[in-house]
Amino acid sequence: MRNAVKQAVKQAVHQRRGTLTGELVRRPGGFGLGQVPNRLAPDSTTSMVCGFCSTGCSLDVHLRNGQAVNLTPSTHYPVNRGMACPKGWEALTPLHASDRLSTPRLRDASGQMRDVDWPTATNAFVDRFKSIQQRHGAESVAFISTGQIATEEMALLGAFAKFGMGVVHGDGNTRQCMATSVVAYKQAFGFDAPPYTYDDFEQSDVIVLVGSNLCIAHPIMWERICRNQCSPEIMVVDPRVTETASAATQHYALAPKRDLTLMYGIAHILVANDWVDHEYIDAHTSGYDTFAAHVAEFNPERVGAATGLSIEQLERSAATIQAGKRVSFWWTMGVNQSHEGVRTAQAIIDLALMTGNIGRPGIGANSITGQRNAMGSRLFSNTTSLFAGRDFTNAEHRGDVAHILGIDVSVIPTHNSAAYDQIIDKILAGEIKGLWIIATNTAHSWIDQKHLHDVLERLEFLVVQDMYATTETAQLANLVLPAAGWGEKDGTFINSERRFGVIKRVSRAPGMALADFSIFKLLAHAWGCGAMFDEWRDPEATLSILGRLSKGLPCDFTGIDGYRSIDAAGGIQWPFPEGSMADPGSERRLFEDGQFHTPDGRARFIVDHPQPVRESTSDRYPLILLTGRGSSAQWHTQTRTAKSAILRSLAPTGSYVELSPVDAAARHITPHELVDVVSARGSMTAQAIITATIATGQIFIPMHDAATNKLTCASFDPHSRQPSYKHSAVQLNKK
Ligand code: SF4
Repeated sequence: MRNAVKQAVKQAVHQRRGTLTGELVRRPGGFGLGQVPNRLAPDSTTSMVCGFCSTGCSLDVHLRNGQAVNLTPSTHYPVNRGMACPKGWEALTPLHASDRLSTPRLRDASGQMRDVDWPTATNAFVDRFKSIQQRHGAESVAFISTGQIATEEMALLGAFAKFGMGVVHGDGNTRQCMATSVVAYKQAFGFDAPPYTYDDFEQSDVIVLVGSNLCIAHPIMWERICRNQCSPEIMVVDPRVTETASAATQHYALAPKRDLTLMYGIAHILVANDWVDHEYIDAHTSGYDTFAAHVAEFNPERVGAATGLSIEQLERSAATIQAGKRVSFWWTMGVNQSHEGVRTAQAIIDLALMTGNIGRPGIGANSITGQRNAMGSRLFSNTTSLFAGRDFTNAEHRGDVAHILGIDVSVIPTHNSAAYDQIIDKILAGEIKGLWIIATNTAHSWIDQKHLHDVLERLEFLVVQDMYATTETAQLANLVLPAAGWGEKDGTFINSERRFGVIKRVSRAPGMALADFSIFKLLAHAWGCGAMFDEWRDPEATLSILGRLSKGLPCDFTGIDGYRSIDAAGGIQWPFPEGSMADPGSERRLFEDGQFHTPDGRARFIVDHPQPVRESTSDRYPLILLTGRGSSAQWHTQTRTAKSAILRSLAPTGSYVELSPVDAAARHITPHELVDVVSARGSMTAQAIITATIATGQIFIPMHDAATNKLTCASFDPHSRQPSYKHSAVQLNKK
């Protein structure tokens, strides 16, 4: 087996060294394992999509001697039109960080991490995980995937883990950002299908942003709003006076986690005034009568008392929506990361349906994605759904996938994976003993850190695959596999508006680091199931396989003919079936024909009763902790953005907590004083920032600080299992 693995390592390295056709390209200085020539002209400029967020901006990367030396935003790409946020401008910098992981590392019997070669690493992976499965069953090994790797990579991971290793439980960090939108769309539209294109930002005359600080979380989308020539009303629903709320024409500073009640309250006023598009409702929806009866209970008095908004504000919000000719509704993490996020997202969808704001330019019920390839994960990670939005529990779907992939149907799991939090519970219960984490920093980002760390320590074997060995999660691992980053490999991302964009190798990965795709191939070979993936010979061939898997489904992209066609078109949105007459690069929105993916072709109104939060404030913990993005220069756990001196200089330094002047005065706290923030689960020290942007009774701490999740309360939406990061009870004290 060791010889076979050596041979597979050679093949992986060969692929890294050569072009996609396998041709070797010699470079000055020879073929060190870390030297990755690409197929681009040595002194040229090529474009590729950014490696951070789901906006999917294109960057022109400038090469010298075959290596990226600089970049500028692409001027002709339909997404960003010459713009980039600070993270995009600094996208190359993290590749050259001094703590890049350049060799596999294995913890020895004394607990020390040692550098090892790839055959030793892959043998450890196979031996330890197979041993666990032999003793405790196939389901005793699980994986946590990511929205940060290429579509082709996450598909190969999902196929290898589930069809090759026999793993059933695999989830992704997309559970933390987009699971709510996935479930909301599936139930309402019959498929996880965000319907918009970014052009809608420029076409709307009323833009409703719920739980979205677009200015700093998605700055280029905000730039698209700034280009809007319609002088739009911009309504922001957010407890804080965020940067976006400050720039809005209307700000609704509701009490935290009362969005669902507010949406029903707005619907109540629309129904009461008959500001409803009956023609659209009758032709294209189901369940309206139940919905109208449900919202009848949400009169302005009740909703005002629950949300803290005045009756005048509620009436103005409904009147603004009614007056709009092209009303677009947008939501992101303020909705998704909630104990009732799915129903809140569906209440937003309900508002769009009842007012006929679906399927035309400038309108829509539009979820804004977080991670750069969360949309790829939603369709092709093979975690919570079978490839291309299919269902693991559906025998016909399993048969289709087996037929397309040429595999035995018996290798496809017949039941769904446990969700991220349930995988953690299974570790706690001793049912899962081996875990493989890929390109995500669980030990920083998961809710309620103390509990999580206690759980991870129970694992027999933890494998982490990452660019850096210094993340909080990698430091806990038994085996760390060195991965190439964005800019060091090929593949595609799918952005928020369903647009495929290409990434390319423009820089050498360090030392023995390999593209995630190559690592998965290597591990599959070592596991003994490499032949199952012979056709998945490289990322572009894999995209073709995924296209076949999409055929006939709402995401059908069989009309995409390789990376060159995506490049030439400036990105291509799905659906794009073979024979499509659409201009591949055009901006296309869904449901223009009023036909949805439900069995009856109608969109569904879905309602529910608002639920209490899991953890209310109390005498002991009287403040509500809100979390969120700190600045446009920071990305999540800062694994990459903290490597850039420029990005560090654009972000606040050290831990800080925003609190209101009233709460500060009540505690005799002065500006910039160090304070302790304490919850029932843990505490942190932070500098006090006293500001009127936060309401009395609430505090805000950015999610980028590793200590923030010591405080957060592990509460989950019951339908999406997405964590509710934005409501925990805390106390705040002078030190
Ligand atoms: Fe990259 Fe997102 Fe910034 Fe665009 S907005 S440059 S995709 S991080």
